[in-house]
Amino acid sequence: MPSNAGPRKAILVVVDGLTASTFEQAVGDRSIPTLTALADVGEYRRAVTTFPSLTPVCLTSLVTGAHPDVHHIPHLVWWHRGEQRIVEYGSSFAAIRAAGTRRSIRDTIVGMNSEHLSPSASTLYEVAEDAGLTAAAINITCYRGGTRHLPTVPGFVRAVYGPRRFFYYSLFESDPIGAPLAIRNRAAGSIDDYAAAAGRWLVTRDGFDVLVYYLSDLDFASHVHGPDGVRAALGNIDRQVGVLADAAGGLDQLLERYALVLCSDHGQTRVSEGIVQLGEHVGPEAIVTSSNRAAMLYGDDPEALAASLDGVPGIDLACYLDGGDVVARRRGEEDSAFLDAHPDGRERMEAALRNPNAGDVLVSAALGWEFSDLAGSHHFGGGSHGSLAAGDSLVPMLSVGAGDPPARTIDVKDTLLAALGLAHAEAA
Ligand SMILES: [Zn+2]
Repeated sequence: MPSNAGPRKAILVVVDGLTASTFEQAVGDRSIPTLTALADVGEYRRAVTTFPSLTPVCLTSLVTGAHPDVHHIPHLVWWHRGEQRIVEYGSSFAAIRAAGTRRSIRDTIVGMNSEHLSPSASTLYEVAEDAGLTAAAINITCYRGGTRHLPTVPGFVRAVYGPRRFFYYSLFESDPIGAPLAIRNRAAGSIDDYAAAAGRWLVTRDGFDVLVYYLSDLDFASHVHGPDGVRAALGNIDRQVGVLADAAGGLDQLLERYALVLCSDHGQTRVSEGIVQLGEHVGPEAIVTSSNRAAMLYGDDPEALAASLDGVPGIDLACYLDGGDVVARRRGEEDSAFLDAHPDGRERMEAALRNPNAGDVLVSAALGWEFSDLAGSHHFGGGSHGSLAAGDSLVPMLSVGAGDPPARTIDVKDTLLAALGLAHAEAA
């Protein structure tokens, strides 16, 4: 049995896009023996992620322990006021092309961590390594640390600063693990197979004190098939978590050595009602950045911008700051109580609006609806996420030997630091 007593090493497993209900219904099924065994010995709850509930925002919140008001990553796509241009982290391949392929790749791989992530936020890796521990990250988009890493493809992008052990889609590898990356077969889980190869290498060598093990392929499957259509993908996740156990000599040995937290970055909900092209509903003076189920409007008059969406279908809330107070608008009515319909709605909307990179108006989609991205892409008939709604915002949160499972994803960092014996080590 894992024990909660005393500092130990720790692993955070992040399964992109896994909804709490999918996880709960699958536990006990023979197709996911490792996840079932972990659930049997761990403590479980549903937790709330940040807003917008989109991957780069949510992963950054997990790693920094903060909402976007602190870490400054606002959305998948946003308007850079200082540089007067769109930043696109990859809403879709077409959107990347529309924003400029080379610049989008650079923004996603380098800029997000070296320029956009606030210097006043601190990552899990930075805190752990400042305390003399070794941190490791696999494939997660929030990786900022103190060790310089050159790309494996010379000249593709510049060097980046990550944790001491750093594996990023085979583009950065702190150590030569010899695993090929087959991105052409993503639907079959090829990216997570790369992650598993790096995870196996690290656990076999006991090569870290804290590891963030990020598995991205399930989100891809859920966008295509919807959140209820991911059982095969969840079987792959089980196998890739099982790889860590095999590398340790078995699940009991893995849990003797490491405290473990498993969660997702956000949920997903079905897109069954319709797609909205928000740019058609606001004046040309406003800048619209939208993707999945969240959008941002940049303009001088937030109240008028929010009002311009009053009759538009698919909008749950359009919110803005007025004299420092959050205004929540729904179909022409303004009432901050609208935010209480969603988990931690006020806290999350306010933190999102107080991000200096956020739009002047933040828009959360109604259930079943999605906003098309720069290139008009969407996931109609499949799954999506990004809104304040519970389905997009609630995540499974399992702790095995790391104490009580945290209620919010922004508390995961402190949970891991406490397991490492660094509960009071973080600088404010
Ligand atoms: Zn995600």
